[in-house]
Amino acid sequence: MMVKAALATAKEQPLVIENVEIDEPRPDEVQVRLVATGVCHTDAIVRDQWYPTPLPAVLGHEGAGIVEKVGSAVTGITRGDRVVLSFASCGACAGCNSGHPAYCTDFTMRNFGGARRDGSTAFRAEDGSAVSSHFFGQSSFAGVTNVAERSVVKVSETARSTSSAR
Ligand SMILES: [Zn+2]
Ligand SMILES: [Zn+2]
Repeated sequence: MMVKAALATAKEQPLVIENVEIDEPRPDEVQVRLVATGVCHTDAIVRDQWYPTPLPAVLGHEGAGIVEKVGSAVTGITRGDRVVLSFASCGACAGCNSGHPAYCTDFTMRNFGGARRDGSTAFRAEDGSAVSSHFFGQSSFAGVTNVAERSVVKVSETARSTSSAR
């Protein structure tokens, strides 16, 4: 499926809106249609390559949206759920097991590696080349993104966008 995304293509250059192909959510992932996202200084400094996330990349790490698809192993989230997106963590290390996923020993690769841990990216450019995904577990500067169930927090059914009021 083709979706629009804001791509960081080069150090210290403006983001570019382009079509990218998104793959299917993995068994432990959900596919989320983004409704809103924050824009944060960390997006800017990763675009500027203070951290070596490979470019081109879909950045963005403060996303909110509606779940459109769930992977086969997802148990706590269903289609239509309103969710906010958070960072990635492994769920198996000492940090994760003690209730502190922000101290996950695999935090750097899962949040700044630009790919899933198997090396696959959720996004491809129109020429088929890889586009970094899963930034902070989510890459929210896209119309639709694939996110691990662990990185999704369900919020109230009454949560809604205020953008229509503007
Ligand atoms: Zn931030
Ligand atoms: Zn962990």
